[in-house]
Amino acid sequence: MSRILVVEDESAIAELISINLRHAGFEVTMAASADQAQYEVDRVLPDLVVLDWMLPGQSGLALARQWRGAPRTKELPIIMLTARAEETDKVSGLDAGADDYLTKPFSTNELLARIRAVLRRKAPEALDSQVEIGGLNLDPGTRRVSREGSEVKLGPTEFRLLHFLMTHPERVHSRSQLLDRVWGDHVFIEERTVDVHVKRLREALERVNCARMIETVRGAGYRLTQQISALQA
Ligand code: CA
Repeated sequence: MSRILVVEDESAIAELISINLRHAGFEVTMAASADQAQYEVDRVLPDLVVLDWMLPGQSGLALARQWRGAPRTKELPIIMLTARAEETDKVSGLDAGADDYLTKPFSTNELLARIRAVLRRKAPEALDSQVEIGGLNLDPGTRRVSREGSEVKLGPTEFRLLHFLMTHPERVHSRSQLLDRVWGDHVFIEERTVDVHVKRLREALERVNCARMIETVRGAGYRLTQQISALQA
């Protein structure tokens, strides 16, 4: 399930957005200021942030800039909300690193469509689309993984890990990045935990000859790649 952080100080708007997002199947956390938003992001990295420009204290614009400058949040998908429709504002919002920009008032359907579009582009693991790599199929809707009709049984964590790796193939992910993106926590869980679950995932994938898709990159982390045995088969 995708985690969305809604940063908005006007509680009526925050409530309305949250109710609609929850209804659409998202897990929602709310923050009413930049400080609270930072606290929530430090705690659990969300899949996407809906960020209001006008906040008490630090503005949403400054916060977006700050997040773009920090290694852990530089890829964090951000949709900026504003009451101001001027073109220059839109440009500043996008310059500050927002992935998209919505002017109030907006319809919930439009917000949902924008959220899905940004997630598809930046965090496809947060959506329910099927993924297929090297004959290995993963369907988040039915939580099934299979290859050539043979099903692979996975625990919930291994499933999320494989889903993340399959939606970001050929890239090396550090243990700390995986903890953030798969577990939602990079502080309180030991990095060794990642190794334990990778080992379990490989064992499960071995049954369909796909264990070698998960590569260990020495000193860097893990990568999912088109596996060799699939090509030989
Ligand atoms: Ca506001």
